[in-house]
Amino acid sequence: MNKVDFFVVGQGLAGTLLTSELLAAGKTVRVFDADHQGAASAVAAGIINPITGRRLVKSWMIDELLPTAITTYQKQESLLDKHFIYQTPVHRTLHDPADENLWTMRCGYPDYADYLSPELIPGNPEGMQSVLARGVIKRGCRVDLPVYIQSWKDHFLQENMLKINRFNYAALMIEKEQIVYDGWTAEKIIFCEGYQILNNPWFNFVPMVLAKGEVIILEIPDLSLDAIYKSKLTFVPLGKNRYWVGATYDWKFADGRPTQTGKEELMEKITEDVKVPFVILDHQAAIRPTIKDRRPVLGAAPKEEKVLVFNGLGTKGASVGPYWSAVMARHLIYGDAIDASVNLNRFI
Ligand SMILES: Cc1cc2nc3c(=O)[nH]c(=O)nc-3n(C[C@H](O)[C@H](O)[C@H](O)COP(=O)(O)OP(=O)(O)OC[C@H]3O[C@@H](n4cnc5c(N)ncnc54)[C@H](O)[C@@H]3O)c2cc1C
Repeated sequence: MNKVDFFVVGQGLAGTLLTSELLAAGKTVRVFDADHQGAASAVAAGIINPITGRRLVKSWMIDELLPTAITTYQKQESLLDKHFIYQTPVHRTLHDPADENLWTMRCGYPDYADYLSPELIPGNPEGMQSVLARGVIKRGCRVDLPVYIQSWKDHFLQENMLKINRFNYAALMIEKEQIVYDGWTAEKIIFCEGYQILNNPWFNFVPMVLAKGEVIILEIPDLSLDAIYKSKLTFVPLGKNRYWVGATYDWKFADGRPTQTGKEELMEKITEDVKVPFVILDHQAAIRPTIKDRRPVLGAAPKEEKVLVFNGLGTKGASVGPYWSAVMARHLIYGDAIDASVNLNRFI
């Protein structure tokens, strides 16, 4: 029988971040992933935007989350010799004097000074719909999640620690001193399955409010955006005149596949915004693992201290994931307490 310290199920952003934390602390891990079927991390833009929403408010805990995220991804870039975090401002469109007033008001708040530039960029970039001005949100980032996940996948395969297969819950044996699965033993197992937590017999009681999102990848030869551009949709420059454009929020859906309705909704907004020719390269969809109270979820299953969950990265995994995966790792290794705001026991 082979032995590791931990099993991690799911190699999306949550499972990858957690595994990398455990490895960095000298622990051994065996990862199981269903070949990224249904993975939100494969479709997400990986934007970290400190100021969001119509009312321009600071994202939850962003002052703590952002520095941790930057340090974590940068350290991992050095470790894997890959590039996946890009620091880039977010240009937010301001359409009328009311938008401009709100911007100016927020700039006056001392705790927003790090994030909002008081100087506006007049008008729209060439090729885009006319707007009054653009406000610059500083300290934004983009994590190239497909590159991030693939880089770690390559590393895990090279280290012979990743099994590409759907985890069979019924085959997990929970013994007094250890857990056993597929010829391996471990001390504990952590499920990081994104929205597929719904199928998990230990955690299917977590109140998920899933949000499906559809996106379109465009090639726009005559558009040259040098920042993330946020109007009704978000345009993320991917290089070579390609743009990630999204996303829809759909709370009632049949499955995680792209739909004609989703495409039409996106195209209506795209044609409103983009005033130069473009080509549609791709149309993708996935389901965000959002919990009712919009907070992550960490902790052990009721009466099963060896079976744990790390999930609920929701719509903001790129910023939320690094901080909370480190908390989860410290809980697993040193028994550190999990904050009540994210503890699984808030649902028990
Ligand atoms: C359209 C869209 C746009 C988004 N944009 C952003 C953004 O700009 N910024 C941002 O921060 N966040 C964004 N998000 C949210 C982000 O994608 C999520 O927060 C994050 O990717 C969730 O990661 P996860 O690992 O929890 O889940 P997932 O990425 O879904 O990964 C779960 C993994 O577990 C595997 N799995 C599940 N069940 C099993 C099983 N039983 N056995 C084996 N493997 C299993 C799956 O195959 C998958 O690989 C977006 C999401 C969507 C859908």
